[in-house]
Amino acid sequence: MGMGWLAAAGDLLLGARCPACLRPWWGLCPPCRSLLRSRIPRAARPTPCPAGFPPTSTAGWYDEPLRRLIVGHKERQALGLAPVLGELLAVACWHLIRTRPTRPDGELTLVPIPSARAAVRSRGYDATTALARRAAALLRPAAPVRVRRLLRHHRSVHDQSGLDAAARQRNLADSLRVRDAGSTQRGMIIIVDDLVTTGATLTEASRALAAAGMPVLGAATIAATRRHHSAAARTTP
Ligand SMILES: [Zn+2]
Repeated sequence: MGMGWLAAAGDLLLGARCPACLRPWWGLCPPCRSLLRSRIPRAARPTPCPAGFPPTSTAGWYDEPLRRLIVGHKERQALGLAPVLGELLAVACWHLIRTRPTRPDGELTLVPIPSARAAVRSRGYDATTALARRAAALLRPAAPVRVRRLLRHHRSVHDQSGLDAAARQRNLADSLRVRDAGSTQRGMIIIVDDLVTTGATLTEASRALAAAGMPVLGAATIAATRRHHSAAARTTP
């Protein structure tokens, strides 16, 4: 009930413009809604690809409409955007599940990339976990799925923007840990995040989970940046 009210307030705060294309509309306009739903999920593999990068599926390119939605949801807590973004994350998860050589049986666990602590404090809202919960709810009729916030920052990292791929990897190396290393994990894990750029974050998350003996199926993101994935796009049918 409370969340419904907040979502409605979020829509109001967006104003009478579509948050994706900025044309006058109340909420996400029908053309943008159908454009988002018609995206074709694909495998994402950054170039250059970091060693240990997990198999990753994404729901589409990080273009301007999607950038506005992801930033709007994260920075302005536009909760009305959570359903459509959660749906895109579910589509990416489903693509990963279907394209792995062995279909996982049993329970699946979505593990969100943890937000930098200061970011969650100032926003009071963990955007990635919220989207993971949405995606899990959509996947649940097809598979038993739950969300576990298994990862935590083990040391502080520098702001990633402006760093190239190699610098990002050095910055993030050994930065994540599994929260409760002794806890048991049933079934496979899908690491989830809003965006894959150089792949450094997903690689570090995969390393940390594997180091704790947790089985990782792969990763799923809402979007992939074209700049870091252009070569892969040319070879992907
Ligand atoms: Zn629109």
